[in-house]
Amino acid sequence: MAESGSCVFCRIAAEDDRAEVVYEDSDYVCFRDRSPAATHHYLLIPRIHIRNPGELTGEHIAMVEKMGEIAREILAQQGASPEDSRLGFHWPPFLRVQHLHLHILNPPSSMGWFARHLLFRENSFAFMTHAAMLDRLRSML
Ligand SMILES: [Zn+2]
Ligand SMILES: [Zn+2]
Repeated sequence: MAESGSCVFCRIAAEDDRAEVVYEDSDYVCFRDRSPAATHHYLLIPRIHIRNPGELTGEHIAMVEKMGEIAREILAQQGASPEDSRLGFHWPPFLRVQHLHLHILNPPSSMGWFARHLLFRENSFAFMTHAAMLDRLRSML
């Protein structure tokens, strides 16, 4: 597929591009953000190329739930507290890469002002938390 062939996250998932992978299974890959905005900053992606959260529907609830579970596992493995974390998705046009990715940030106190209050501001026009995304998708059923 031409689109996924040029997608940097698809290339990371296919190991055609290098990234510091912290978790992978048959459906998901998680790697360190190349420009971290927090002490722990990981991106968890599905291997399938979904462009952005606007494409998610009620059919994706299980997938989004699973991504939350994996995110908490990764944080625990990395010695970070899942409770003191920010998990969420960017809305267009705030996606740097058009491939669905869950930002995993920990702890919020390590984030700079711009990241905390603008780029990753909870439930803003730029960023929707994982919990709010699940609510949104459940409301679509
Ligand atoms: Zn992709
Ligand atoms: Zn993003």
